[in-house]
Amino acid sequence: MSDTLIRHASFEGSTKDILVSDGVISAIANDLAVPLGAEVFDAKGLLVWPGMVNTHHHLAQSILKGMPSGINSNLNDWLIKVPFSAWPHFDAETMYVAAMIGFSELLRSGCTTCADHHYLYQEDYGPELESAVLRAAEDIGIRFVLCRGGATSTGSHLGLNHSGLIVNEDLDTMLRRLQDRLHNWHDPAPESMRRLVVAPTSLVHGAEPDHLRVLADFANEHNLRRHSHLLEVKRDEEITQQKYGMSAASYAEDVGWLGPDVWYAHLVHTDEEALAKFADSGTGIAHCPTSNCRLGSGIAPVTAMAAAGMPISLGVDGSASAESGSMANEAMLTWLLHRAIDGASSTSLEQVKQWSTVGGADLLGLNIGRICVGACADLVFFDLSEPRYAGVWMPEYAPIVCGEPVQVSRTMINGRWRVIDGQLVDIDTKKLLLKAEEKIRRLSNRIVGV
Ligand SMILES: [Zn+2]
Repeated sequence: MSDTLIRHASFEGSTKDILVSDGVISAIANDLAVPLGAEVFDAKGLLVWPGMVNTHHHLAQSILKGMPSGINSNLNDWLIKVPFSAWPHFDAETMYVAAMIGFSELLRSGCTTCADHHYLYQEDYGPELESAVLRAAEDIGIRFVLCRGGATSTGSHLGLNHSGLIVNEDLDTMLRRLQDRLHNWHDPAPESMRRLVVAPTSLVHGAEPDHLRVLADFANEHNLRRHSHLLEVKRDEEITQQKYGMSAASYAEDVGWLGPDVWYAHLVHTDEEALAKFADSGTGIAHCPTSNCRLGSGIAPVTAMAAAGMPISLGVDGSASAESGSMANEAMLTWLLHRAIDGASSTSLEQVKQWSTVGGADLLGLNIGRICVGACADLVFFDLSEPRYAGVWMPEYAPIVCGEPVQVSRTMINGRWRVIDGQLVDIDTKKLLLKAEEKIRRLSNRIVGV
């Protein structure tokens, strides 16, 4: 990989040159000399951010936006009517197209790393759908974290029980498939472009307690992080009280699923006792406010979580419940939403920027999310000359205060240009959109009651 010298890079209130060598930021200073053979890019007029880090997605849903059957549903009804009604009709090609659409949206909105919570697994099915997502990540060049979902029992999960497929794997099958992916794909390095995470779809509804303990042991043995859904709605709390006589947070503690290597999506219904457990153990959150608003689930108390020292990151969640799939949108909503409840000083721009970049980076354990020497060169260049940003007095925070439509001129991931002049590199977007239309037509003919 050749070096790239970025001239006049404006970031964090100053303008300097940035040298990128072998995918890493190797120097930051004024008037850096051009190394032999280096590409020189003049970033005058552009605002540079570290790429945003999306810590919770379901890429399969990227072609299930605004499905009418679930448009006014709460989470429980929506799970049955939308994602799990579509699942039986997904093949590898459909999954690939959906993933490419999702990745395109992320790259277009200033994101360079995606953790996808992929849960389409069946007992009698190979890893074709999972492989299709990995292939899409490779083709588009995004930094990718596979949160390997799935269920060892469908238990009390309303979606899993209505998929029309046998979606639970036995524990041995799940472990064997995890092992395969670990040995054939996972890269543990802090600069990794491909990371595996142990991520049963639902902590409460998709696995028995003993299985969760075995999965935790597997993750610890192989130094893998862990992820799942928790407390998106009150039902998690009700079920753990009914089945185990304890709160959902106590249940997570009991099965060994709290700690600095664990982060949960949503945590909307976090009371004081749960908050103390998460904060004390260093357990993190993927805050997904758009999806939580859309499904009427509530608002996670992230300002209280941050004050208590919990690690905070942002996730766009699946596009069937957050139709934008945009990290900039998520950041803007995070900035605004908590002010509506707690007042105008409850969130700061610095804090939201941090949550959307370094907050996610640290939860994933990757050397990204910062512009400093030694960090991976994942950089986003916003075009401040666009009318959307005209008149902004705090250009550093334009991507948050102005929100969508985001104007990304260029994106670099691991030292490689993946967006140039607002267009994806090496990807035929027109062809991709036509393919997506074809897949949506096919799904709409097959899903009953759509
Ligand atoms: Zn989710």
